[in-house]
Amino acid sequence: MQEIGHWINGKLVAGTSGRFTDVYNPATGEVQTRVALATTAELDAAVAAAAAAQPVWAATNPQRRARVMMKFGDLINAHMDELAELVSREHGKTLPDARGDVQRGLEVIEVCMGAPALLKGEYTDSAGPGIDLYSMRQPLGVVAGIAPFNFPAMIPLWKMGPALVAGNAMILKPSERCPSTSIRLAQLAQEAGLPDGVLQVVNGDKEVVDAILDNETVQAVGFVGSTPIAQYIYGRACSNGKRAQCFGGAKNHMIIMPDADLDKAADALVGAGFGAAGERCMAISVAVPVGKETADRLIEKLVPKIEKLKVGPYTAGNDVDFGPVITKQAQDRINGLIGSGVEQGATLVVDGRALKIQGYENGFYVGPTLFDDVTPEMDIYRQEIFGPVLSTVRMDSYEDALKLVIDNDYGNGTAIFTADGDTARDFASRVNVGMVGINFPIPVPLSYYTFGGWKKSAFGDLNQYGPDALRFYTKTKTVTARWFSGIKDGASLNFKALD
Ligand code: NAD
Repeated sequence: MQEIGHWINGKLVAGTSGRFTDVYNPATGEVQTRVALATTAELDAAVAAAAAAQPVWAATNPQRRARVMMKFGDLINAHMDELAELVSREHGKTLPDARGDVQRGLEVIEVCMGAPALLKGEYTDSAGPGIDLYSMRQPLGVVAGIAPFNFPAMIPLWKMGPALVAGNAMILKPSERCPSTSIRLAQLAQEAGLPDGVLQVVNGDKEVVDAILDNETVQAVGFVGSTPIAQYIYGRACSNGKRAQCFGGAKNHMIIMPDADLDKAADALVGAGFGAAGERCMAISVAVPVGKETADRLIEKLVPKIEKLKVGPYTAGNDVDFGPVITKQAQDRINGLIGSGVEQGATLVVDGRALKIQGYENGFYVGPTLFDDVTPEMDIYRQEIFGPVLSTVRMDSYEDALKLVIDNDYGNGTAIFTADGDTARDFASRVNVGMVGINFPIPVPLSYYTFGGWKKSAFGDLNQYGPDALRFYTKTKTVTARWFSGIKDGASLNFKALD
């Protein structure tokens, strides 16, 4: 069987641990390859080599580093279909959706092409007599990025672009369920001119993550994944003196006001709830219609749209709306949660549990599922399902709906559908969620803004990509310089204002 190792010093190398995990094709349920799981010693060696390569890269002027990003962007575009196929084969999402995964990562690389402008420091001429004051942004050294399975191209690109263009070396640890895209991206980065050793892709599981967290050379950790792991990594990285930004799970609500265009709201819910089988941290998993009439009409509009959705393998091309979930365990967990919703009293309007795809009986499929009459105490409301399951929580008023969103532990994304600008403005202002959509269901900001949730959806204080990411991957040094032509004779012993 084919084996995936690591990308170290510009070469593919086999793992030495003797430990592997299977990589599935979720569409068929078959094991297609296995990936090596690195040891602490392998990680430490990769970090040492990255530390040796980093100073030359940091000393390369910012514009030249940006040119590597330009070439990298060109190569990603040129290899778009190949990358999308790699994503779909290990993740299961449809090819158009996989292209979107690559594209939204590429857009961060595009912003990195202009990074020199964002990496400039500040300067105050004549801050005192003959005294100039300036600050500069310097790279941290070796940093790490740890990625989840659900965006095999986008999130590694969100991590590597800002870290590398700022002059750091990066250890990238992809999800062990979808490792191939990161390795291919590293090869393209090398072809674009990135020096060997500056980007190391180390595959593995908890052992290698813990090794990253405990390695003294690693200065910062950017993590994306589930909330319990984000919280664990944030704690351990911080207590080891590292910078950390750890993005976690989500439970994203969409409020539907009585004045909303319900056809558009229903279309938005179908796309945002079931696209990529619901395996998006910005998926809408909770619909919150305000008022009985809105709820009844919304359900009426949703049911035929949901029943029409086609589920199947990515190889079926445009005939498929979404694919399988990532593993058999995920399929069982989602089906179990659907069962718990029924037991706990929710109304199961569309049941996706029995779905079987002819010719793909062993694939990890769950059909689109719709619940009505969900309450905040139920497990299907409290847990992140991360599957094609949309829950409807009916609310009597806007204030009750807003309170539901505010009281939820997660705060990644949210949306409101309304025809009233005043309600929309009030919602955007008062809701305690990091990314808000107004008549827009998945408000992932463009790459020149920044991405990050609130509450248990993110730990740390700077967001991913955009100017925040360059702040995260650099430290500020401030220099006070005096040139003797300007100073008076004699020493002063007092600590005093510069003027
Ligand atoms: P996960 O937390 O299981 O894994 C993420 C990474 O952590 C992987 O690289 C994995 O190898 C590693 N990991 C897993 N268990 C670990 C442990 N015990 N100790 C150390 N490392 C460990 O997440 P996932 O299932 O790959 O991804 C889905 C989750 O990611 C969802 O909760 C989703 O909402 C979230 N997500 C969040 C964002 C965001 O920006 N907030 C974006 C995408 C996905």
